[in-house]
Amino acid sequence: MDQKLLYDVLRAEIQDRKIPLSLGKTCPMKCTFCYEQDHSYRKTFNTPRTTQDHWQFILNEIQKCPSGKNEAWIFGGNEYMEWTETFLHPRAMDWLEEFLDNTDKKIVIFTTGCLPHEKINRLAERYSGRIHMELSVNTLSRYRKQLMPIGPSIKQVLKILDGPVVTTANFYSFGPSTMSEDAKTISKINPRCHLWMGCLTPLKYIDEKTTALMRQGKKFLPDEAKKIYDDCLPNISMIHTESDITTFLNRNKILKSFDACELKKKDTVVMAGNVYRILTMFRQNRARFLYVPNDTLGGDSDCSTLLTFKDIAKRITNQTQVYLPKVIMENTSNEERDIAGVSFDEFKSWFPRCRFKVLYKINSKQSNRKLYEKGYLKNYVEDYLYNPLSKQFETVPLPN
Ligand code: SF4
Repeated sequence: MDQKLLYDVLRAEIQDRKIPLSLGKTCPMKCTFCYEQDHSYRKTFNTPRTTQDHWQFILNEIQKCPSGKNEAWIFGGNEYMEWTETFLHPRAMDWLEEFLDNTDKKIVIFTTGCLPHEKINRLAERYSGRIHMELSVNTLSRYRKQLMPIGPSIKQVLKILDGPVVTTANFYSFGPSTMSEDAKTISKINPRCHLWMGCLTPLKYIDEKTTALMRQGKKFLPDEAKKIYDDCLPNISMIHTESDITTFLNRNKILKSFDACELKKKDTVVMAGNVYRILTMFRQNRARFLYVPNDTLGGDSDCSTLLTFKDIAKRITNQTQVYLPKVIMENTSNEERDIAGVSFDEFKSWFPRCRFKVLYKINSKQSNRKLYEKGYLKNYVEDYLYNPLSKQFETVPLPN
């Protein structure tokens, strides 16, 4: 890779508050559910394995950045480079420690748990309040070997959980007695960490066996969630991956935002399936709802935030004016680009005879806030599973 380009990519990651360590292509863990398997929809740069020189450059650049009060740097997640399990890099732990020693910045670690538990828990004690770990437990169930063939052992994951470092543990339903059993096990060891649960959504490139398991997980999510609800665990428990549930639970806010846009009956407005269902139920004929499937990601994805301009282009016919929610073009903080990196200006140039208007009130700041406000397991059980309206919502047909 050209050296100038490499350093530009590292700078761009740092600009976004990412600590850009690389293992090179591709992640050795080979989790079958990995969403990084297909990058055809977004541009990633083939950065080489991070060397000591690269690290020196990264640390120097980070030290130049002012420390925001509530700002945390991401360790183990990139925007322009591939995501990998960063701790498989033999120097990752040393560099993490150097970062903590040489800056006053906070850090959020994303990992599946491939790191020495004694050392990370010691660092968490020494740098109290500065390290938050989002531990991707994924599953402790009988399906773990199938999904994470060379992932860290359950024993290793539990040891990391048994300490001060883990802020949130993510894990999912894959069928009966999966998510609910994991919640009990994790809570027993660590009653303080937040439990982030839900399902994994099959995308078009996920293999058949894994797709079947993900769908089985979705089918059993209600039962699994009710069991955890009945267990009254002390941990804060959230369902945070399901766009249908989030949409339904936030229906009043969605309707209020829609009303605030003051659209007319003949105005055409773009949306993915779940919002389409809500507006069809409660605001029928108040505007023309242009349903756009998430074709780019494919599989079972159904989320307005993850729509691409290419997806929308496929659905535009003879409209002369179309309204787009801002949420579609918020991939980067400064420019209007979709998740595939296509700019709004480029998209507009594809349809010279159509005018596009942005609904600025429908933005990700608002939707992310809502995700947390109503994202509790309790909300799901009480206002979704026990609410007959949710059945009606699930059966609203989507147009072809
Ligand atoms: S560890 Fe993360 S990046 Fe690597 S294969 Fe697994 S899910 Fe993908």
